[in-house]
Amino acid sequence: MSFPYHSAVVVAGGGGFIGGHLVGALLAQGHRVRAVDRKPTRDWYQVHADAENVVADLTRIEACMTACQGMQACYQLAADMGGMGFIENNKALCMLSVLVSTHMLVAAREQGLDSIFYASSACVYNAGKQSSEDAAPLKEADAYPAMPEDGYGWEKLFSERMHRHFREDFGLRTRVARYHNVYGPHGTWRGGREKAPAAICRKVIQAKRSGATTIEIWGDGRQTRSFMYIDDCVKGTLDIMHCDVVEPINLGSDELITINGLVDLVEEIAGVRLRREYRLDAPKGVNGRNSDNRMILAELGWKPSIRLCDGMERTYRWIHDEYARTYS
Ligand code: NAD
Repeated sequence: MSFPYHSAVVVAGGGGFIGGHLVGALLAQGHRVRAVDRKPTRDWYQVHADAENVVADLTRIEACMTACQGMQACYQLAADMGGMGFIENNKALCMLSVLVSTHMLVAAREQGLDSIFYASSACVYNAGKQSSEDAAPLKEADAYPAMPEDGYGWEKLFSERMHRHFREDFGLRTRVARYHNVYGPHGTWRGGREKAPAAICRKVIQAKRSGATTIEIWGDGRQTRSFMYIDDCVKGTLDIMHCDVVEPINLGSDELITINGLVDLVEEIAGVRLRREYRLDAPKGVNGRNSDNRMILAELGWKPSIRLCDGMERTYRWIHDEYARTYS
């Protein structure tokens, strides 16, 4: 491991879903943590009293310089981000996250940080490799030749590349994970940025409370995905930061499920059955996407530890309570 434990660490995007969990884990390990996010702290998913919590817009280089000052390592998670409905309709906004990635890299170098971790995405993968529901799991080499998700995926691929060149040209220690759909408590469940697991939980809860008998599904429900529980994501993120693999590496679950299967699961947890109304014109993303975990298993010994049914149960309970709190 290159930087010592109990060092000072900045988490960019610390007010977000994964950032909030990561800050908690880093504090538990004894790090001094600075969490930085653009949102006012009342909108952060988690505010850890033991962290230094800073509200700043990291598209600005000055804010990045201040965020990195006195720190040894950075986890760069800040990005304009959401599920398919958001990224298909906000391509320019997604691409503007390049300002954060760029300025955090420049600041990390100028402030003499030892290491920077970058949260990339499975959206960097070539769309041609994801055209059927039973497409082969995506291995790291499948990002090239480049044909990523328009907007969001291009930004991630470009930023990955920039991390590589800061390492090669400037000697900054960079690590990159390609996250595949992360879900769990303390994340987005309404408002348009939520992803399929949270959206389905919310719709089922909504139907149960209102007595509705139908649920709207985006696409034909046959599209396949894998979903990684947040605890596995945080553990994998820390493992990747401390490992020797310099190339981008998959961090995801390989438990494949159709969207219809995910609805079945949530219905079972909730104890209801709903009639499905398929919206074929809604954003649904690629037809099939799964993570090939051979590299991360061989190099780091990491594999997902939480089954989808268990993680979804916890997620459903959390969204259920949030829903009740919000709408009561
Ligand atoms: P999130 O939206 O909950 O968190 C991102 C945070 O970044 C937000 O709190 C947002 O306010 C903050 N942010 C955005 N722009 C900023 C700026 N200019 N200055 C300061 N803060 C800013 O998303 P998340 O699910 O926690 O994702 C974290 C990272 O992981 C993102 O980079 C995302 O692209 C990546 N990722 C997530 C998933 C997933 O399934 N959640 C999958 C692939 C990649």
